[in-house]
Amino acid sequence: MVGELNVLSEWIPEQMSPGTIFVLENAGEVGEPEDPYFAVLACPSCGVLGLITRRQIAGLIPVICGSDQCSAQFFIRDNDIVVRKAS
Ligand SMILES: [Zn+2]
Repeated sequence: MVGELNVLSEWIPEQMSPGTIFVLENAGEVGEPEDPYFAVLACPSCGVLGLITRRQIAGLIPVICGSDQCSAQFFIRDNDIVVRKAS
């Protein structure tokens, strides 16, 4: 798994390698009002793209990969990816 986020400033799908994040142009305007979608993140383990919310970007709740083949769970801490320890 990649350990650091790579922030993309422009939406270039081919550059969405694992651990790459792209902040949505309408960040904060879609999804649940109390925890709206904020960015697209390529899973740092398998590279599958998924939407993440403002709370996930703030590191308050873990990001869980949406792929059936991947069980990655991690927190975003600033620009780092911190693997969630199984409790
Ligand atoms: Zn994954």
